[in-house]
Amino acid sequence: MNGFGFNGDDFARVGAWISQYFEHPEEYPVLARVNPGEIAASLPASAPQEGESFDAIFADFERLILPGITHWNHPRFFAYFATSAAPIAILAEALAATLDVKAMLWRTSPAASELEAVVMRWLRELLGLPSVFTGIIYDTASIAGFTALAAARDAMDPAIRDRGMINQATHPFRIYVTEHTHSHIEKAAIALGIGRENVVKIVCDDHFAMDPLALLAAISDDRAAGRRPMAIVATAGTTSTTSIDPIPEIAEIAQRERVWLHVDAAYAGVAAIVPEFAATLAGAEYADSIVVNPHKWLFVPMDLSVLFIRNEGQLRRTFSLVPEYLTTTDEDVVNYMDYGLQLGRRFRALKLWFVLRAFGAEGLRTHLREHVALAAEFAGWIEASSEWEVLAPHPFSVVCFRYRGNQTDETRIERFNAGILERVNASGTCFLSHTKLGATYALRLAIGNLRTTHRDVAAAWEALQLAANEQEDAMDVDDCAC
Ligand SMILES: *Cc1c(COP(=O)(O)O)cnc(C)c1O
Repeated sequence: MNGFGFNGDDFARVGAWISQYFEHPEEYPVLARVNPGEIAASLPASAPQEGESFDAIFADFERLILPGITHWNHPRFFAYFATSAAPIAILAEALAATLDVKAMLWRTSPAASELEAVVMRWLRELLGLPSVFTGIIYDTASIAGFTALAAARDAMDPAIRDRGMINQATHPFRIYVTEHTHSHIEKAAIALGIGRENVVKIVCDDHFAMDPLALLAAISDDRAAGRRPMAIVATAGTTSTTSIDPIPEIAEIAQRERVWLHVDAAYAGVAAIVPEFAATLAGAEYADSIVVNPHKWLFVPMDLSVLFIRNEGQLRRTFSLVPEYLTTTDEDVVNYMDYGLQLGRRFRALKLWFVLRAFGAEGLRTHLREHVALAAEFAGWIEASSEWEVLAPHPFSVVCFRYRGNQTDETRIERFNAGILERVNASGTCFLSHTKLGATYALRLAIGNLRTTHRDVAAAWEALQLAANEQEDAMDVDDCAC
């Protein structure tokens, strides 16, 4: 194949490069070792006037771009939520990009629309959710969550679609979350004209889960003051600790109070495909909307987030707006442009279909079980050590912990642990991140990579202990100096 600056050999070359990368992603430093601005400074200020050869472009990809990549596919990537792209899904991405369909109307690619509906039914069944839920694919949980809350808002007041938020100043909508709810809910409140002040943070118990009695009290107070309780967001697997809000109790309150219940299970929801972890989504069957992210812990590459919605008609009423040039006479079809802000949509269902088929449900379960077991093993090492402590329950594959030693001063402990994190990450052997639990600084190890083995987790533990020793020495010197 020739033309437009490419030939068939270039495809073979990139294919070989990808295949080799997936054999050894661990040969790269996991965290990019570049300074801010370094990559940009290495590139020309303006686009070329004349076309360049693929050889030249690809050489610069390897020489200039790769050194600035943080390798999410590296088996020692333990930061944020560790993820990994299954190579089979990369093949699907290449095919989807090749076909370059915009799956907005059924007729703009019938197979893209129909495959999406089919894999959404497969996933819903694997998760144990009832058939009343319709699954729809979005790019991210942030957008899926925004979309669900837009439907919740319009369900409460259908006039908003035409007249806007005219009552928000006098009778504000309220959304209930906790301090551990993901920040995209607050962003959605900003974008929907609800406002950050109307996102109410309900207190948590000492396991970082929402207190249902406090929720009920907040709703009553709001009603008494003329405010309008609109939505409760319960999280199954919070971002800091992976704690689970008591969804069955919250669902009961939501039903009684007629408030939309959104369950954010972006990371942990997929665990429900494993029988031992089916309880992850317990109570979610009563929700109005649920988000799970196959691009997080189901080995699908960025991006693919799924919204399961009880009343898909409400979502269509909120978002459907069909200009003349997009009208069709097709009957009994789904036109996915009716379910969100986007018109043109990527053919994302293809990669999930490839992954579900290549692994099979049992294959996926095996990996998820393995990740939870590795996290439990790591937590066991922390607990067995007198100098370290686990800071939160770890129901899935994330552990929050810190070094304490014989220190008692909280400020010093925080500084000490921040120092450990910096040393470990600078070493290039692994990449961890941190969070805060109340006022407590916590180190955080997340397992979610297909290639992570016992050896990688043990290496992280060793690197942490080494860094703690070095930090001990460094801070002793510090303390003497002052
Ligand atoms: C990761 C995460 C999100 C955000 O996911 P995106 O797909 O990156 O928008 C939202 N909620 C929870 C609980 C998460 O873990």
